[in-house]
Order: sequence, then structure tokens, then C-alpha cells
Amino acid sequence: MQIAGLIKNSVVDYPGKIAAVIFTSGCNLDCYYCHNRFLLSPKTWGDLLSEEEVLRFLEKRKKLLDGVVISGGEPTLQKDLKEFLRKVKNLDYEIKLDTNGTNPALLKDLIDNKLLDYVAMDFKAPFQKYSQICGSNASLVLEEIKESIKILLTGQVAYEFRTTFNPELKKEDILEMAEYIQGARLYVLQQYRKPDLPDYEKLALRLQQDVYSTDFIKETVQKVSEIVAVCETRGI
Ligand code: SF4
Repeated sequence: MQIAGLIKNSVVDYPGKIAAVIFTSGCNLDCYYCHNRFLLSPKTWGDLLSEEEVLRFLEKRKKLLDGVVISGGEPTLQKDLKEFLRKVKNLDYEIKLDTNGTNPALLKDLIDNKLLDYVAMDFKAPFQKYSQICGSNASLVLEEIKESIKILLTGQVAYEFRTTFNPELKKEDILEMAEYIQGARLYVLQQYRKPDLPDYEKLALRLQQDVYSTDFIKETVQKVSEIVAVCETRGI
């Protein structure tokens, strides 16, 4: 496992639980608003933590933590993710996976082997807009993303879909996505935060829209709530 970071104690990353958050390095997408950009390249992710070190920490904290979040980057790129999760499960932790949904085969395998208790999957955009927001590689993995959505909608594991309501998306896009995951148990709309990019001003010109207001997001949530079971906001 390539582990680039560890938050030892979080109350906001795993619904209802106090959790440690593990950040794996590398991602197969390149979302323009990514706030973990340093994880995308070996040039910036710095020294990695050893798996043993992280497991030793989790062993010691067993009485203080309820869960472990595996985030990134994109955790399903890690070849030995399954073995690692088994070791975490053996320590009696509940596990939440944060994923962009591009590896449905592994997602299903992890669910079938009861190695996941909660999955938060990013649903970034209507499919025709994925490349615009997540870089050209996104067009190569659309079928995989659709398959992951299908897997989660079968309800074998607790899950949420989440979308960062970034300025490239319109309200109509969000409604289109909600229709795609119609009936989903939870859809979370996250407030967009401007990324700290040197050329952001240039990018902002293309966006033609600033951060959406809280009222606008709440109004959208109301509409979406008619399509999925529950729609919530985060970060507003
Ligand atoms: S999928 Fe997540 S980690 Fe990867 S580039 Fe997008 S926001 Fe960043």
C-alpha cells in the first residue's frame, strides 16, 4: 500500500463515527478542483508511511476509534488494497471507502468479502461532462463508473453518492444526475471550494460562474429530494 497521509482522529469523514483517515497516493482522474492534488504525483506526495506503522497505530487506538476511512487519491488503484483492508478488519474496525468509482470489479469484490461497511462514491458530473471536469482520462472510465453506481444501488452495503457543486455544473446537471441514481439512499451535494492553483484566475474566466450561494444549493437540494431518498448538503 502506498500511504501518503494519515489523519489520526476525525469526526467529519465517517458519518456517526470517530475515525482515522488514510490517504493513498495516486489517482486516475484529474479534477480541476481537487484539494488533494499533492497526492496525484510522486513528485509531490513526499515520503510514504509504511503499512506496518499505520497498522501499529490502529492497533494502539482500537479503544478510541470506531472506524477507518480509506481515501485518496483513488484507493482502488492500490494492488494490495484487499489484503490491507483484511488486516484492518482483523483489528475490528468498521471501514469506509472513498472512491471515484472507476474500479467496479474491486468494489464488488470488497463488498462481497464484507471488507467494507460504507462507501462514499463521487458522482462528479453528468457523463457528457466528466472529461470537462475530471480530465481527458475520464472518458475512458465512464462505463466503469456506471457499473459502480449500479453495484451501490443494489444496496449490499451502506453508501452515499456525492457531488461537488462546482461552477461547471448547472442545476439541471444535478437534477439529471439525481435521475440517474433515482431512489438512492443518500445523495450529498458538497459546497465547492476554490482550489489553490497558480492559474486559477485564468480558469475562473472559463467557469463564468462563482461559488454557488447557500440558498441556491438548498433550493437544488429540495428538488433533488423528490428524486432520491435523502439529499443533504455538506460544507455550506
Ligand atoms: S478523483 Fe478525487 S483525488 Fe482524484 S483528482 Fe478527482 S478529486 Fe482529486
